[in-house]
Amino acid sequence: MFHHEKCTLCGECLIQCPYLAFSEEQAKEEFKKLIDGEPTSVTTECITCAACNMFCPETANPFDLINERQEETGTFQATNQALEMFNMASMMPSEVIKGESGKPTINLCTVTDFLPGVIEGQLFDGLTLLKGGDYFCYFGWIHIGKPRIVKENAQKFVDNLIKTGAEEIICFHDDCYAMLTNKVREFGISIPFKPIHIIEYLRDFVKNHNDQIRKLNLKIAYQQPCASRFTFEKDNILDELFELIGVERMERKYDRMGALCCTSAMSAMQNLSRDYIEEWRMKNILDAKEVGAQAMVFLCPLCVLPLRSRAKAQGLEPYILSNLVRLALGEKLTCGGAGKIYD
Ligand code: SF4
Ligand code: SF4
Repeated sequence: MFHHEKCTLCGECLIQCPYLAFSEEQAKEEFKKLIDGEPTSVTTECITCAACNMFCPETANPFDLINERQEETGTFQATNQALEMFNMASMMPSEVIKGESGKPTINLCTVTDFLPGVIEGQLFDGLTLLKGGDYFCYFGWIHIGKPRIVKENAQKFVDNLIKTGAEEIICFHDDCYAMLTNKVREFGISIPFKPIHIIEYLRDFVKNHNDQIRKLNLKIAYQQPCASRFTFEKDNILDELFELIGVERMERKYDRMGALCCTSAMSAMQNLSRDYIEEWRMKNILDAKEVGAQAMVFLCPLCVLPLRSRAKAQGLEPYILSNLVRLALGEKLTCGGAGKIYD
């Protein structure tokens, strides 16, 4: 939610935006237009990365205002393919795969079926798995410029999770955790179970199985998902996890505050050319290469798809985070680090 009363019209949100090129004066003017509900190119050009929520020194959540205006004005043009994909996500057949009693429940929603070999091994043995459209959180609709759909479906999503009876639910997808700990609270919905982020689950698993851990001694570049902007406090847990498994997270321009969109959100926009999107993908990967990373690590399965082969081509082995942990546990990765085997 945008906090109008906190905004000093300093323009920092738009000045620091990696994708829009405004001078300080222009940034102040354009943000004022957003507040006043006047037309501005920001609603068409903003790629919905939500980074400006972190850039704002007053924690006013400027992206939330931009996103609202994108919806009100209809100036954010999503591709038909992206709209179909999001509509289909909530209609995917659902199932609860019962695990062993006393073991946790994990929400995989719809994001793991396209990455073979990811939900395997001792990290997932005996867990109750929630899959399908009933467990889709709708958070991704912000990237289609339609935040109202997130709000309208929040209670239904929460109710479906409540029906499972789980007291704690691990969120495999970063969006799911952002929805349950940030958006749901903003909408005034209470939840009787505890959401656990997959990073926290992995950190605790590694601590409890420390005797099995082989330090990987690996330099990695991390691809931070856009949803992490809403729950940035867990970044410290991620650093702790990396240290526990012997991984060095290389400091680079496009991580933490400077993280870039993986380009999945950009691909959902009608007005961006393929060349423009490709340029941003390669900036990201070459930044990772330049700092000496040996691997590229993904948290979000949707970030994997546009970047894994490009990273591999530049000599960076792609891994989804849980697979990196499995490697440290001495497990064999049957479908490679990120759901694809390369020759
Ligand atoms: S959400 Fe991202 S692209 Fe949009 S204005 Fe904010 S920083 Fe820029
Ligand atoms: S939203 Fe924040 S960064 Fe943007 S103009 Fe207002 S105070 Fe400045």
